[in-house]
Amino acid sequence: MRAAILTAYRAPLALEQVAEPDCPADGVVLQVLACGVCRSDWHGWTGEHARVKPGARLGHEYCGQVIAAGPQARFGVGDRLIAPFILACGQCPSCQAGQSTTCADQIIPGFTAPGAFAEYVAVPRDRNLVRLPASLTPALAAGLGCRVTTAWQALTGRAALQAGEWLAVHGTGGIGLSALLIGRALGARVIVVDVVAEKLAHALGLGAEAALDARTTDIPAAIRDLTGGGAHVSLEALGRPETTNASIRCLRPLGRHVQVGMPTGRHAQMQVDMLAVYIGQLALYGTRGMPSWRYPSLLSLIETGRLDVTPIVAREIGLSGVSAELAAFDGPTPPGVAVVTDFLA
Ligand SMILES: [Zn+2]
Ligand SMILES: [Zn+2]
Repeated sequence: MRAAILTAYRAPLALEQVAEPDCPADGVVLQVLACGVCRSDWHGWTGEHARVKPGARLGHEYCGQVIAAGPQARFGVGDRLIAPFILACGQCPSCQAGQSTTCADQIIPGFTAPGAFAEYVAVPRDRNLVRLPASLTPALAAGLGCRVTTAWQALTGRAALQAGEWLAVHGTGGIGLSALLIGRALGARVIVVDVVAEKLAHALGLGAEAALDARTTDIPAAIRDLTGGGAHVSLEALGRPETTNASIRCLRPLGRHVQVGMPTGRHAQMQVDMLAVYIGQLALYGTRGMPSWRYPSLLSLIETGRLDVTPIVAREIGLSGVSAELAAFDGPTPPGVAVVTDFLA
């Protein structure tokens, strides 16, 4: 089968013919119908992700059709499925409590196992997967990827965002855009922050009440002014000190900060304004992924038209286009994400 292989950090992925994967006993082999390209892939491509070594195959935002099923698999040949990026064990106390994103025994195709930048991908533990709704195209389902699911869990599973509350979103890449759309669907009032004028205009067109340029604006002051005292919930989507601190400082007293961006490399030990946390009596939430049992709640919003995720997928590309998308994450990117839908191109 055709696959894109990481041969060296920051080098274009090599398009190679490799063996088709064996079918796991407790899972399936999917023919990949679509796979999103994400900033997390970029972290792997640059060498910032500890588990990604040369020889790895990236791609963690996939949906596909079952072509082989193991004896203990839940799904069968022909089923069209969406996968969460975390394949949890299903057995441990965290999984049993419904908190599978904190499972200590996770398999993550694209990071800890061969990923879906290929014609086929092996997916063990298929109890983590859900059926692809008929109303959702594979490209959109893959576009949900880790971004819409993560934003859904961040806002509803962690920060408990309420209708009428002010939500600030720092960074309008895939996650930030998802947070804007979900916030709007939940009845929150949303302010977005970015440094790319095109993205700010895009967000305004999607219902943001204000779009602030961090290059020219004192973000915490502007948000406190717009919201009459600060946002109730603020989401940071980049993993950087300047945006994390702007997020914390833009909150009203008792506000909730959600750290969605992954701080890597030199940002892993960033300085945070803990005095603002203390004085504002703020809550800080970390979040990563979404337990797969929460898919039905998210998919029902999409299927009934309350949440339109079509603005998230900006372009469909071939497998040979992934390298350029990864390199583009070095700088500010245009709105929307790329999804691979042609694995022979
Ligand atoms: Zn577990
Ligand atoms: Zn992702």
